[in-house]
Amino acid sequence: MIINTAFLVIGLVGVGLAVFSIVWLKARHAHLKPAQSNTKLATNLRDEKLKSEIILNTIDDGVILFDKDMTIQLFNPGAGRITGWGVEEAGGISCLAVIKLVNEKGEEYAPDKNPLNAIFNSTQTIRDNTAVLVTRANKQVPVNISVTPLLDGDQTVTAAVATFRDVSQERAEEKRRAEFISTASHEMRTPVAAIEGYLALAMNEKVSKIDPKARAYLEKAHESTQHLGKLFQDLLTSAKAEDGRLVSHPVVTEMGAYIEQLTDSFRFAAQKKGLLTDFIIGTSGTGVGSQAGERVVRPLYYVHVDPDRIREVLTNLFDNAVKYTPSGKISLGITGNNDVVQIYVRDTGPGIPAEDVPHLFQKFYRVDSSSTRTIGGTGLGLFICRKIVELYQGRIWVESKVDEGSTFYINLPRLSTQKASELQTLEAQRQTPAPLTSLTTPVV
Ligand code: ADP
Repeated sequence: MIINTAFLVIGLVGVGLAVFSIVWLKARHAHLKPAQSNTKLATNLRDEKLKSEIILNTIDDGVILFDKDMTIQLFNPGAGRITGWGVEEAGGISCLAVIKLVNEKGEEYAPDKNPLNAIFNSTQTIRDNTAVLVTRANKQVPVNISVTPLLDGDQTVTAAVATFRDVSQERAEEKRRAEFISTASHEMRTPVAAIEGYLALAMNEKVSKIDPKARAYLEKAHESTQHLGKLFQDLLTSAKAEDGRLVSHPVVTEMGAYIEQLTDSFRFAAQKKGLLTDFIIGTSGTGVGSQAGERVVRPLYYVHVDPDRIREVLTNLFDNAVKYTPSGKISLGITGNNDVVQIYVRDTGPGIPAEDVPHLFQKFYRVDSSSTRTIGGTGLGLFICRKIVELYQGRIWVESKVDEGSTFYINLPRLSTQKASELQTLEAQRQTPAPLTSLTTPVV
């Protein structure tokens, strides 16, 4: 009995001790928790900082942070490897002295075109995939650079981060590919032109006698050869456009008069398919050639372009409008304000789905819809158009609604009458003969 009582007392004391220990430990733990998590936080932060430092110090890409005075505040070893500057040396000096950018022709960037300057007037990242960086040892390294602004509460740019990557190998590879395409298409154009010529001769009644069945076959062969010839020509032009070898002889051109020259062949192409046409020059909507012999007063839209190149663009847009529009009307118009000359080609065709619009001016892009899939094409025309328009600091885009039609717009920088006159005087002094097809109206 005594023993039993003793065990009971010992048991109760044990349970009491255990409960006390748990309560005490819990209290202690609760008391210690904030201190412990602070330590943990500090360690975590240290770890995060360490991780960022490890990443910044090991990546191949160059990363620099610079402030409004263009002073470098952070310069990682990757930036050092690309530029040839030491990490310690570069800190605290102007980023423009360390990151010297030129274009592919080796010409220095104008200050407003240099992304390191331009970022202070932008709230968005600026990317440049055609830049070349001049290293400390004066070596030229092709780079892809993107500059991101750091904004304060008022959306003012206080500093910026530039990241850049050495893309020498990719650019060399691209160049080799473009050279191959351009050589191959150049070589293949010659035999194709010969085949086309002989097929034309075979179909010429004055030269050879063929039965109607053979003529039908030859006509088909001739059509396909023409298509092949166009494909090689487009490949050649796009390869040249990509590596900056597109020949361009810009002259002062009055676009209104130039377009007027083209309307006959455009109207003919549309009429062959039973489509109506409308040519509109000036904001007042004055019809061009709509009433024979009528003299109209309209603004003069001077631009500085190679007219042959612009004709390529307009022909491409007009041909597309005709090609993709089963019935209805094609309008070609020109309008503008003080700064811009705007040309548009509008059709009543199938329209272009919104998801395709952002890709339309990329190489080989074709809309995969039932209405356009069956129509032949290379997907190079609009890419070439964009490259040509960009050659003259212009912009090309499309606005379209499915089942209602599309309007392709081109904006070109407009020359004032005075500027046009000055440039024409310079052109005359240089005595460069204008291309035969150009129409350079004397400035009045
Ligand atoms: P291609 O006409 O040789 O295929 P383009 O680069 O000229 O190449 O045009 C790219 C694509 O854009 C075409 O395949 C077509 O799907 C679409 N497209 C161009 N113009 C029009 C238009 N006026 N209406 C509808 N779709 C068009």
